[in-house]
Amino acid sequence: MDFKFTEDQLSLQEMAREFAEKEIAPKAAELDEVSKHPADLFAKMAELGFTGLCTPEEYGGAGGGDIEKAIVIEEFARKDPAVAGVYAIHFGTAAFLNNWGSEELKREYLPKLANGALGAFAMTEPGAGSDASAMRTTAILDETAGEYVINGSKCFITGGSQADYIALIALTQPELGVKGMSAILIDTAKVKGKGFTIGKIEHKMGLHASETAELIFEDCRVPKENLIGVEGKGFNYAMTILDGSRIACGAQCVGLAEGAIELAVKYSKERVQFGKPISANQGIQWYLADMATRTEAAKWMTYHAAYLKASGQKHSKEAAMAKLFGSETARFVANLAMQIHGGYGYMEEYPMAKLYRDAKILEIWIGTSEVQKMVISRAVMG
Ligand SMILES: Cc1cc2nc3c(=O)[nH]c(=O)nc-3n(C[C@H](O)[C@H](O)[C@H](O)COP(=O)(O)OP(=O)(O)OC[C@H]3O[C@@H](n4cnc5c(N)ncnc54)[C@H](O)[C@@H]3O)c2cc1C
Repeated sequence: MDFKFTEDQLSLQEMAREFAEKEIAPKAAELDEVSKHPADLFAKMAELGFTGLCTPEEYGGAGGGDIEKAIVIEEFARKDPAVAGVYAIHFGTAAFLNNWGSEELKREYLPKLANGALGAFAMTEPGAGSDASAMRTTAILDETAGEYVINGSKCFITGGSQADYIALIALTQPELGVKGMSAILIDTAKVKGKGFTIGKIEHKMGLHASETAELIFEDCRVPKENLIGVEGKGFNYAMTILDGSRIACGAQCVGLAEGAIELAVKYSKERVQFGKPISANQGIQWYLADMATRTEAAKWMTYHAAYLKASGQKHSKEAAMAKLFGSETARFVANLAMQIHGGYGYMEEYPMAKLYRDAKILEIWIGTSEVQKMVISRAVMG
């Protein structure tokens, strides 16, 4: 067994930590306040190669894998889990293309995504959240025109209003249900105003540094060459992408928990009550011990799942476990860190309130905790 990061991974971690401290941390409060996509931060990430971290070198990326992605997301999330969330979701589109896209799609779009064009993943619909089989959006092939005609709407799409490219899951053969779903690349600049519009931008409890949008398709036409992979495989592809996203979410959870522990330790040493810092009380120390222990467990579950995926092994169950446990841990830790801050933690002028609000989404998106339990129990029961 080897629990060590490689030299390259340690350098990446240092670089990501520095970026998070110098660039992300100073903007976190403002982004939370104004609730919008951090375009300038994203451009700086692109300059340093973070946005192309997992794109193969031949398509203009750094050729990194799941462990590298987890390292960067963890570091970003320590300073702002919301920024880390937008960054993590960005990888989905490139992953679809990289895994199943035609050579033409890869050559055209992977370098752009690596260079900072924003990617999004659109699966959820008003009537189809946990149950993707209830999906209604269709993409029917018009053979004569050589185009898919897309109709329907997607909701809660992270970065959907800003995305340059979207990996859309839609029914190409509605009568086949999940077996009739396909993945299609939407080049938003080509279809905006031509059957594709951005609908409602959600007003959210947390994760403000990302716009969560409704996407509306009305006879929106995209070339049939934008089909990613094979017709009818969209659901399977999406489940594969979600496995990877759950590991990324695990890293986001760990980063959030680590950030919350740092704040709680600092505050507990500074805050004096009954004539001594509150950190001198064993009750507070035990809180910190529980927070650190769970975070450490979540961390190794996440990196174990990343290692399994990076080395080509089965990882669905472990990814779901990392996401389930990680998100429960993030909420647990954020709650105790808030408790340690007392009334001041509840005030928006302290960063603790934001972390507490940001933590909840981790148990909901990329499959709710109940959905993770479905994945895990299926694997456990064979
Ligand atoms: C901020 C945010 C960002 C998002 N970003 C994206 C994105 O980029 N792309 C995208 O496609 N989607 C995105 N989503 C959608 C997200 O993945 C869904 O919200 C999530 O999958 C749950 O679906 P739902 O909200 O419809 O809840 P529902 O499916 O209606 O579930 C409601 C509750 O019922 C439970 N439940 C449902 N079925 C069962 C069952 N069989 N057994 C036990 N319990 C069950 C759920 O676990 C949940 O607790 C985002 C959501 C949010 C809030």
